[in-house]
Amino acid sequence: MTIDWHTLKTGTGTTELAPSAIRRLACDAKVLPVVLGSNSEPLDIGRISYTVPPHLRRALIVRDKHCAFPGCRRRPSTCHAHHITHWANGGDTALTNLVLLCGMHHRLIHHSGWTVRITNGRPEFTPPNWLRRRQT
Ligand SMILES: [Zn+2]
Ligand SMILES: [Zn+2]
Repeated sequence: MTIDWHTLKTGTGTTELAPSAIRRLACDAKVLPVVLGSNSEPLDIGRISYTVPPHLRRALIVRDKHCAFPGCRRRPSTCHAHHITHWANGGDTALTNLVLLCGMHHRLIHHSGWTVRITNGRPEFTPPNWLRRRQT
């Protein structure tokens, strides 16, 4: 699947899949940068790179041990490395910007109002406003 750089960055535009879904898939993936000409012919093909290199994934597993979402214990082998600030938006691929999430919670973080940040070296999750209101 190819996606326009602008579409990936902003999450807006028309693609086969919803841009927000592509952002989620690209969050932890192998990426092959391709520059397309005006007739969509490939002009320049970059080198495949992993958005999260293996050594960083190992360090992330040591820190989070399993899916980091509250109450979830899914094993690292079923988890994705989520970029808190998407790499397409300049987010670092570093432990301070990564969190281990199972497929289900990775989808949740991308497509609902949940947010996550690293506080004192640990992931901290914040529910969306509508959910907070319901709990109080
Ligand atoms: Zn993600
Ligand atoms: Zn999970």
